[in-house]
Amino acid sequence: MLRTSVNKLFKTGIIQLSRRQYAAAAAIPDPITKPDIQCDKIFINNEFVDAKSGKRFPTLNPATEEVICEIAEADKADVDIAVEAANEAFRLGSPWRTMDASERGRLLNRLADLMERDRTLLASLETLDNGKPYNIAYAVDVPFSIKTLRYFAGWTDKIQGKTIPIDGDFFCYTRHEPVGVCGQIIPWNFPLLMQAWKLGPSLAAGNCVVMKLAEQTPLSGLHIASLIKEAGFPPGVVNILSGYGPTAGAAIAEHPDVDKVAFTGSTEVGKLIQQAAGRTNLKNVTLELGGKSPHIILSDVDIEEAVETSHFALFFNMGQCCTAGSRTFVEESIYDKFVEAATERAKKRTVGNPFDPKIEQGPQVDKDQFTKILGMIESGRQEGAKMNCGGGKAHDRGYFIQPTVFSDVQDNMRLAREEIFGPVQQILKFKGLDEAIERGNNSIYGLAAGVMTKDLDKAMYLSQGLRAGTVWVNTYDVFPQQSAFGGFKQSGIGRENGEYAFNSYIEPKTVIIKVPQKNS
Ligand code: NAP
Ligand code: MG
Repeated sequence: MLRTSVNKLFKTGIIQLSRRQYAAAAAIPDPITKPDIQCDKIFINNEFVDAKSGKRFPTLNPATEEVICEIAEADKADVDIAVEAANEAFRLGSPWRTMDASERGRLLNRLADLMERDRTLLASLETLDNGKPYNIAYAVDVPFSIKTLRYFAGWTDKIQGKTIPIDGDFFCYTRHEPVGVCGQIIPWNFPLLMQAWKLGPSLAAGNCVVMKLAEQTPLSGLHIASLIKEAGFPPGVVNILSGYGPTAGAAIAEHPDVDKVAFTGSTEVGKLIQQAAGRTNLKNVTLELGGKSPHIILSDVDIEEAVETSHFALFFNMGQCCTAGSRTFVEESIYDKFVEAATERAKKRTVGNPFDPKIEQGPQVDKDQFTKILGMIESGRQEGAKMNCGGGKAHDRGYFIQPTVFSDVQDNMRLAREEIFGPVQQILKFKGLDEAIERGNNSIYGLAAGVMTKDLDKAMYLSQGLRAGTVWVNTYDVFPQQSAFGGFKQSGIGRENGEYAFNSYIEPKTVIIKVPQKNS
């Protein structure tokens, strides 16, 4: 039987799966609650080794606040070794550099095969470490990560330059060459998926990688390290470190022998990464950062459907989505009815043990996030927004927060300006399309936006006016691996996924050859 929370996502049409995947999701196997994986070492040159300092730190289960296991704490010294290994793997003439492009594709597909084999284990690790519902980890996070790797596997032998008719007696062509050693720093909200979004295009283009996992959620990424070795990637091509941001993460961003850094996380840290690149070797920087995405609901919608979609747009993944539809703008004439229905929906949201199939919402990832979110709720109260439901802690143990809905939210309130990254919906009232565009764009961010209407002209007008990297119409949070994802304004630099991802993982090289005009 299809488990409840996944079923709901399918019904609203938000998650688009093939018939085969749908059938597979219907038979979700029981999780592995005590997984046995290599977790106290870091992965360099295809070997699991101790961190130089010997230091370790605990990773917690956010549903119970219990320590799952101790993790190796990589530091600058380990980053130096990993970067050296990656540069050695990238050396001209190395097995990786001389490998046929199609063979790189075979390795990426082999990694995807191994992830399919270990799907239950990977989903279980994701739930244990991050707190996301196991059903979702199994039916969404793991298969979407696999699809991403397979998509990029198909690209390896299709990354090609051009021949260009330049002026004069010359033959001119471009080669699309890998950038070199890529530092990759990933967050904790979608550990596996963010890892796949970064490994896929970088490896397809022939780069080498030094990746730092988020301190809160290192487990699934460390298991992927073992699969990389099993898949047969040459040593040093992918190096994976667990450790803290200000130490290991900063060492990657500062490193003179790292050619590119790709980061997903907060805008605040994104700025530090760019500064570090500017101070050191001007490494190529791509950033996928925060958002405060407007979700604009026009009065012609089916209210029940719009409420469900806007609920999903905000509450999915415990509200811990960079794209969260965290400003729900509702047209004046349906505002009161919408607020009432959205509140009823939020009150019905089931919160608890993420391994329980009936649960829609697990805990927030850690105590810091939990405390920050409760602080934002308090600011909403103080600034005069109306709290319709929720507002507090949900269980005695674990970082659970009640699904919370605020109405009468004004544009200048912190609730409407700052990223909350939690299960807190803000509903604002608007009148007219131009007002919706102007207020929707009134943010330092520009990651995503949503529009709900039955009127195609209005949908097109709004989609054109909104300054965001993705606009969803009558759906939300569809992340196809085939299309570009990224942000306008302070939501980031560059794009991930699709052909666009290669813009930041290749260096075009122009080669110009003189063509003799006479036989001499
Ligand atoms: P964060 O600090 O930006 O963390 C993201 C990644 O950057 C982690 O791997 C982190 O390491 C690393 N990092 C931290 N400081 C660094 C530094 N100085 N140099 C290099 N790397 C560094 O985010 P957070 O503290 O986990 O969450 C804070 C807020 O960021 C959230 O409330 C949310 O608003 C936003 N956020 C956005 C996304 C997104 O998808 N765009 C994802 C996560 C968080 P550690 O693991 O040691 O922290
Ligand atoms: Mg954890």
